[in-house]
Amino acid sequence: MDFRKAFRVKPGRRLELAKLDTRFHAGLDEEAALELTRKHRKRLFDLQRALMAEDRRSVLVVLQAMDAAGKDGAIRKVLSGLNPAGCRVTSFRAPSAEELDHDFLWRVHKAAPARGEVGVFNRSHYEDVLIVRVHDLVPEKVWRKRYREINLFEEYLTRQGTTVVKIFLHISKAEQKRRFEERIATPKKHFKVNPHDFGERACWQDYMRAFEEVFQRCSTKQAPWYVIPADHKWFRDAAFAQILADTLADMKPRYPKGDFDPAELVIPD
Ligand code: ATP
Ligand code: MG
Repeated sequence: MDFRKAFRVKPGRRLELAKLDTRFHAGLDEEAALELTRKHRKRLFDLQRALMAEDRRSVLVVLQAMDAAGKDGAIRKVLSGLNPAGCRVTSFRAPSAEELDHDFLWRVHKAAPARGEVGVFNRSHYEDVLIVRVHDLVPEKVWRKRYREINLFEEYLTRQGTTVVKIFLHISKAEQKRRFEERIATPKKHFKVNPHDFGERACWQDYMRAFEEVFQRCSTKQAPWYVIPADHKWFRDAAFAQILADTLADMKPRYPKGDFDPAELVIPD
C-alpha cells in the first residue's frame, strides 16, 4: 500500500479526526510490519548517505502528536539506522524567556537542517497554533495569522532546498489512557510520567479541533501533512518509514562526480 497516498491530507481538506480509524493496519500483522520497517530503514540509510554526499539539499521531518502517541518511539525505531553525523533531532519544549522575546519562528529556523542533513522536529512551530490556541497563551488575532506565516516559512525553506514532510501520529483517547497506565506500571517508564499530561486529556476535543485546522490550512503541495494511524506501534513505524523513504527517493540525491580523471591521478609514495 502506498502510505503517502493513503495518509496525505489534500490541501484545504477538513478531516474529522474522530472518524479516522486509529487502529488501522492495512491488513498487515506485526511481523509483516516489522519486515517492512526494516526494508524502508535500509532504503533510508542508502538515501541519506547520498544526501550527505550531495551536500546541497536537506530534509525536515516535523513530528506532532498527542502525549504518548509515540513520537520518541517512532524516531528511535525508524531513524536509528541513519548516520548520526547527518541527522539532527530537536525537541521543542515550552519556550524560554529568550525565545519568547523573539518571533515564534526564531528558535525553529535556527534548528532547521543544514545542507545534507535530515532534521527532525519532535514538536515544532505547530505548537504555536496547538497548545497556544487551546490554552489561550496569545490572543486569537495573533495565532490566527500564524497559519499563513507558517505556510510562508515552509515555502521559503522549500525554495532553499529543504524538503518538508509533516507527520501526525494519530492515537485514540482510549489508547492514550492505556499507555499512561502502562507507564505508571513500568518503573523504567516512570521518567515519562507527567501528571500534567493527564490533565490535558480534558482538552482532547479542543486539541483535535486545533489539529484539524492545522491540517486544513497547512497541508500544502510542497509541505504535506500525513496522518498516520498509530494505535499499533508496529504499523506506525512501518508507515512512517515508508513515507520518509519515498520522500527521500523522490529527491533523487546524487553522489557528486569527482572533478578529476582517475587515470591521471598519481598518489606520491
Ligand atoms: P514526552 O512524550 O516524553 O512527555 P514531550 O514532547 O511531551 O515528551 P515534554 O517536555 O513533556 O516533552 O513537553 C513539552 C511541552 O512543551 C509540551 O506540553 C508542549 O505542548 C510544550 N510546548 C512546546 N512548544 C510550545 C510552545 N511554543 N508554547 C507553549 N508550549 C509549548
Ligand atoms: Mg510530555
